[in-house]
Amino acid sequence: MEEPLLMEEPMIRERITIFDTTLRDGEQSPGCSMNLEEKVRMAQELEMLGVDIIEAGFPIASDGDFAAVKAVSAQCRKAKIAALCRTAEADIARAAEALQRAIHPRIHTFVATSDIHLEHKLRKSRKEVIDMTREAVKLASNYAEDVEFSAEDATRSDVDYLCEVLAVAVEAGASVLNVPDTVGYTMPSEFSRLVKTVRQRVVGARNVTISVHCHNDLGLAVANSLAAVEAGARQVECTINGIGERAGNASLEEIVMALHVRSDRLPFETGVNTRELYPTSQLLSAIVGFEVQPNKAIVGRNAFAHEAGIHQHGVINNPLCYEIMTPESVGVPANTLVLGKHSGRHALALRYAELGFQLSPADLDTTYKSFTALADRKKKVYDQDLISLLLPAVKSRCQKSEVKAGGNQLATTGVAT
Ligand SMILES: [Zn+2]
Repeated sequence: MEEPLLMEEPMIRERITIFDTTLRDGEQSPGCSMNLEEKVRMAQELEMLGVDIIEAGFPIASDGDFAAVKAVSAQCRKAKIAALCRTAEADIARAAEALQRAIHPRIHTFVATSDIHLEHKLRKSRKEVIDMTREAVKLASNYAEDVEFSAEDATRSDVDYLCEVLAVAVEAGASVLNVPDTVGYTMPSEFSRLVKTVRQRVVGARNVTISVHCHNDLGLAVANSLAAVEAGARQVECTINGIGERAGNASLEEIVMALHVRSDRLPFETGVNTRELYPTSQLLSAIVGFEVQPNKAIVGRNAFAHEAGIHQHGVINNPLCYEIMTPESVGVPANTLVLGKHSGRHALALRYAELGFQLSPADLDTTYKSFTALADRKKKVYDQDLISLLLPAVKSRCQKSEVKAGGNQLATTGVAT
């Protein structure tokens, strides 16, 4: 029998914390490295987007990462800033040092809990890992009020042992327990059960948040994250454009829009301003130098394109025929006009405004010159080109005194939470 249609009632929506790790897990992936200035620019954009937490790096990994966490900590006033560290004392101290200027610092410490990692990577016994967890969380709690603990490779860990380790982390002072699907192996129903188990056996009535961090090796990162939310997770770790180790992390824009569009099934809210999703995605593409796949959900070039005649006809009559959300709701400019060498200053300024950049007359002058030079070489100038052109001007306006250009040599410590 069909459910009767009910009058819409005001619903109390629980908040899902959006933990962005574009600058840490995302940046670790091949071809996605960013310099200090680019990380700070990206952090500003993420804060404007409305993410709750920005994981800015892994300070012990390199001087570049340390400097980036330090600069982002000084820059961001609203978002919490997280720094990653293993359980070693020096790792934790380095993370705390990098976070010194953050208004809301979070230390994120992790250790693997699966037998395969214990045996082949850590060469530690289960008992030793429990001791490492306790010591690390205690030490981190001396430096910061907000401590997150991650059980790396949680989805391939023995459930009883995983719960034991997580319980030790809570006793030692962790307020966020992250359950990562480090290798992108789990299935939605299985992951849902795991999150429920952790909730029942470890969290109980305590004021501890369950977080998830899903990788996309089987293309299930977003589905698994949403299943976890339904099972009681209240923090989701994700990245812009889904960048990250191997096949990437759960894509922030997909999670946010799934919660937004299907709020009938998922009664939750986030702090994200969905209209900033597309500009943020475009900025990241411009910084790392590659576009997202054209058919990528939410932010791909074709995500709102209608090619088939019958579809076009339907969309013109009523967009809801083939669109479950409007392009405008995610910040895709409604105007699909492609700019070329004959486009004038006004069209250029308008397109920038649609992309979220209000150019001053002086900025417009400089940018228009580079635009015409580029349009001479390229037949069509796309949004991504425009954002690339704008970067120097934006950078100089946003630049703060403590930000100096610097290199980054990450990826030496083999982290894959
Ligand atoms: Zn990861």
